[in-house]
Amino acid sequence: MPELPEVEVSRMGISPHLVGETIRSLTFRTPKLRWDIPVELKQLEGQVIRDIRRRAKYLIIETDAGCAIVHLGMSGSLRILDAEFPPSKHDHVDLLLTNGKLLRYNDPRRFGAWLFSQDGEHAVLGHMGPEPLTDEFNAEYMLQKALNKRVAVKQFIMDNKVVVGVGNIYASESLFSAKVHPTRAAGSLTLTEWDSLVSDIKQVLTTSIKQGGTTLKDFAQADGKPGYFAQELQVYGKVGDPCPNCGEEIEALKISQRNTFFCPHCQI
Ligand SMILES: [Zn+2]
Repeated sequence: MPELPEVEVSRMGISPHLVGETIRSLTFRTPKLRWDIPVELKQLEGQVIRDIRRRAKYLIIETDAGCAIVHLGMSGSLRILDAEFPPSKHDHVDLLLTNGKLLRYNDPRRFGAWLFSQDGEHAVLGHMGPEPLTDEFNAEYMLQKALNKRVAVKQFIMDNKVVVGVGNIYASESLFSAKVHPTRAAGSLTLTEWDSLVSDIKQVLTTSIKQGGTTLKDFAQADGKPGYFAQELQVYGKVGDPCPNCGEEIEALKISQRNTFFCPHCQI
């Protein structure tokens, strides 16, 4: 599933091909992805793309007549192709430019979304916590937010209302770096522990975005699946392997039905 780093890398991959260009037409080959595709999106035809922003895992394609809000769901991907390149089975949306290129959206499982917004706001973007890579996401904020909370810290940092974009892999990896046990009550972390955890979350996400940066050219290639990339992981998926710090075996457990990996020696 595309996580925040993949979505950010997708934004960086498609933006240079789209910003400043004019939309000739929008083609939908399905009426519905996760939700119905709204007819209002047709209002973007003839408009210049002003910017492409990201909020959590949504991409917001901005024009003066409104925005397309795009989510990659479980299996969505975007690429830039020549207009005459024939669509294949799961190519559900084409955004054709007047320069002969198009943005094509592929999504085998159809859990993604294309939505319309006049002003860039939308119900799907409401009630979200801060972006993890902004200064708003800091140790003091997390300490306040977690006050008296008994929920497991791993589940807490994965809650979009607390902070957006900390997916399952990144939660395990950052808790390992910060040496915090994933089942600890969120309210039990000290300011110093939040300081490490917050900076490790930022570090893990930033590293991942950098690793994805090597795939940027794939967005304008006809083959492959841009936006998905291999990452160097310390503990995620490594049950039974030796801990990279102490050599103890990595253990796994489920927290809120999600696989969680940790070192029982290093993480307290
Ligand atoms: Zn260890």
